[in-house]
Amino acid sequence: MSSMATDLMYALREVPGKGKGLIATRKIPMGTRILSEEPIIRVPEAAPDTLTLRTSINQQVDALTPDQRQALLSMHNIHDDDAASRYLGIIRANALPFGDCEREAGIFVNACRINHDCDNNAQRSWNENINRHTVHAKRDIENGEEITIFYLGVLNNRKTRQEALRSKFRFTCMCRLCSLPPDQSQENDRKLSEILTLDGLIGRDGMMGILSAPLRKLRYVDQQIRLYNELGPNDNGLPRAFIDAAQIAITHGDLARARNFAKRAVLGWIVLEGDDGPQVLQYSALTQDPSKHELYGTTMKWKTAIDNIPVGLDSEDFDDWLWRRDKPKKPGQPVDLRNRTTFPCFNDLPDENDVDLEFYASSDGFTYRPHRHWLFLAEIVDFATLVRLQMDVKDVEGMTIPLFFYTIDRGDELAPSQVQKGYTIAILYAERHAFMFSEPGIRLEEPKNFKACQRTGWNDKGHKADCKLLRDTDLKGLFSLDWDNFEGHVQFPLKTATN
Ligand SMILES: [Zn+2]
Ligand SMILES: [Zn+2]
Repeated sequence: MSSMATDLMYALREVPGKGKGLIATRKIPMGTRILSEEPIIRVPEAAPDTLTLRTSINQQVDALTPDQRQALLSMHNIHDDDAASRYLGIIRANALPFGDCEREAGIFVNACRINHDCDNNAQRSWNENINRHTVHAKRDIENGEEITIFYLGVLNNRKTRQEALRSKFRFTCMCRLCSLPPDQSQENDRKLSEILTLDGLIGRDGMMGILSAPLRKLRYVDQQIRLYNELGPNDNGLPRAFIDAAQIAITHGDLARARNFAKRAVLGWIVLEGDDGPQVLQYSALTQDPSKHELYGTTMKWKTAIDNIPVGLDSEDFDDWLWRRDKPKKPGQPVDLRNRTTFPCFNDLPDENDVDLEFYASSDGFTYRPHRHWLFLAEIVDFATLVRLQMDVKDVEGMTIPLFFYTIDRGDELAPSQVQKGYTIAILYAERHAFMFSEPGIRLEEPKNFKACQRTGWNDKGHKADCKLLRDTDLKGLFSLDWDNFEGHVQFPLKTATN
């Protein structure tokens, strides 16, 4: 066994409460390849217990060297009452999934000795380029520390994790995360479930979603990465999230950000898989020339040159640039009408049927309320009164959407002089509504959330336009409201700082 001859950085030792495990025999720095192994026995993943399976296992066991067979027999067996099922019991308890899409499982002499921990310090992965199972240090591992991996496929809350580990591997996890006091455990579960929710939101509507609401998607990824980083360094999901961000950027022609995101993804995979890892090789091209990507330039609305990167920023300001974050305004600083967080376009508004974490937060996990204020601004393109007042309005992106007045007076609240083509409308807490009879638009119920005025120019660039709007008493309040802090809904007329 050639791997035994090399300078091993671990030893098989007794671990209290867990049987045997691999213990680091020296400090193992983050990113180190701890081991790289071929399977000594391979079976289909999740294969039912059939004669074919047992025959195949017996043949493979017969072909083992005495050392290998001894290693196999010393592994934990979940069917130890039944001699005929012995090998199967060992394989069921110890095999690790590997191969493309993890369709096979295998027994690895050393890797199978690594115990599970929900806060694992090492990452397992199958490297199809070298046909070996590899394990890398996710973070620095101290001399004497147990090396651990994560046995399950996806991150999940404590209850789900524990049930899966019990039914599949027949042990109760006692790791640090599973032993947290209830409040901390709940906080950890909340982060995990938010990561999963964000996963769904990022993937939803596929390419259409990336095309119609790229900023919203980018915000989801930004938030997901924040959560991953709160869980610990080098989470397995992190590089994938950076690739999601790179794809959003590249679709809209943003080469500078796409390359930066791709670089972060690849750096993450180098730690988790090594520099010959399959994803490292797959995505390296994207860090060189993202314009070769098939999605590049589907639109050019975020167009940047590849080296169009701001210089001299500290890392926080750089990240604000990278993620296109709108900076929260400092107290006393007037709001900027071009801030797309506070004044979103239609596609970035929350969907009425969803809990959009961009806009809503929950302290108990059940009830949600806004965590900030937002205002939809648009220009009246056309209007008519049939059963109720309805308008076609054009948002900041130039998209025209219908607005229907479901207020008590069905739009009669407005003076006719306020309803003119070219006028500006403003709607607090607007949401996207799916109408049965028209394109998606806005269904307005609360008249005090609505304001129309003849001031135009909110969509112009620069300070002059803001000054024009300031002449309208109602809109003056826009500039002094603390948009990022929600302490109850505000309504028109907005209070100004002076009254
Ligand atoms: Zn655990
Ligand atoms: Zn001015």
